[in-house]
Amino acid sequence: MPTSSIAALHIPDYIRSISPYIGGKPIEEVAREFGLDPAKIVKLASNENPLGIPESAQRAMAAAMAEIGRYPDDNGFDLKQVLSKKLGIDPEWIVLGAGSSDILITAALTFSGSEGRVVHSQYGFVVYGLAAQKVGAKITVVPATEGLGHDLDAMLAAARGAGGEGAAQLVYIANPSNPTGTFLEPQRIEAFLEALPAETVIVLDEAYTEYLEPALRFDSTQWVRRFANLVVSRTFSKAYGLAGLRIGYGIAQPALTDLMNRVRAAFNVNALAQAAAVAALGDQAFLDQSYALNRAGLAQLSNAFDAAGIEYIPSYGNFILFKASRDDGDDDAGARVNLALLKRGIIVRPVANYGLPQWLRVSIGTRSENEAFLAALPGAMELGAAARAAVA
Ligand SMILES: *Cc1c(COP(=O)(O)O)cnc(C)c1O
Repeated sequence: MPTSSIAALHIPDYIRSISPYIGGKPIEEVAREFGLDPAKIVKLASNENPLGIPESAQRAMAAAMAEIGRYPDDNGFDLKQVLSKKLGIDPEWIVLGAGSSDILITAALTFSGSEGRVVHSQYGFVVYGLAAQKVGAKITVVPATEGLGHDLDAMLAAARGAGGEGAAQLVYIANPSNPTGTFLEPQRIEAFLEALPAETVIVLDEAYTEYLEPALRFDSTQWVRRFANLVVSRTFSKAYGLAGLRIGYGIAQPALTDLMNRVRAAFNVNALAQAAAVAALGDQAFLDQSYALNRAGLAQLSNAFDAAGIEYIPSYGNFILFKASRDDGDDDAGARVNLALLKRGIIVRPVANYGLPQWLRVSIGTRSENEAFLAALPGAMELGAAARAAVA
């Protein structure tokens, strides 16, 4: 009788060696594992908007339900019209994705493939390395700066092929970056774009751009007009509160969006997501509220960390990376404190898979969610009485 065996399949080594993506633990899973009431669990693990989905988007989805028996508009006409007006660019300069992760992966497929080389920063978003690995590209990881941010000079050298390997096909940069929360001034990115080899595509990931203070924001569509090798990626998963719908977009010159449109899956963005995104883009009040809540929460957590002497990276996003131990040799700290927090019904994100076993990332929640986290943290970190009092 014929049998089949996975060993007989020609699965490439670069596929076999992919480590699965580790997302934030779902509330229901933590409730089951630790015997907790799901209603009392606080999830601050995936940088979601603590306000949830805007009501405007819920209404738009309810209306779109009537047509859900049909395929979505593969070209995303309505959404591109609204984005086009908002961004001041033609619709052909926009490519839609099932979350911006889809844009990141489509970029690897389109611009690198298995022949190419992909450059990203140490502690850069985990999807960059995964996307490169999925297509079988060579990967250059550039050591981070002391504050865990992007070292643009070293990244430029890597993109140019300082080791004699020729220019890279693709570079990923996130601004602000996740999981570190670090920020690059626009002038520095602009200088990087000017110096980058013409044959290297760069994806500038702006998943958290809506959370930047107005004084720090820069309209990157200006760069897209100037640089034919730039793709800016954005998402509706964070400030717009639509993480579960999976919708994001890329902005690039039409020659690039045309290629990416050929490579992405057909109908990659579902009809409910498109309708919700149109509504969310028109809901400035929700965006303003999300921004204000995040500013307050960043201050609330940063002040508490300062008071308790907990080390953290000042964040420009909607999350903070903090050190779970004051002992530099304590490589178990992230896992241990994470478990202690889970037992107390608080879900944060371990970042050992980023090579940061002493650190944890906490998303900014509502005021009361942040309070619940801060109430649980001293016990979980086994801090002394003075630190406990400082955090409370
Ligand atoms: C959350 C995040 C994204 C967005 O992911 P989606 O696929 O759009 O949900 C992209 N880049 C970074 C750096 C992120 O943290």
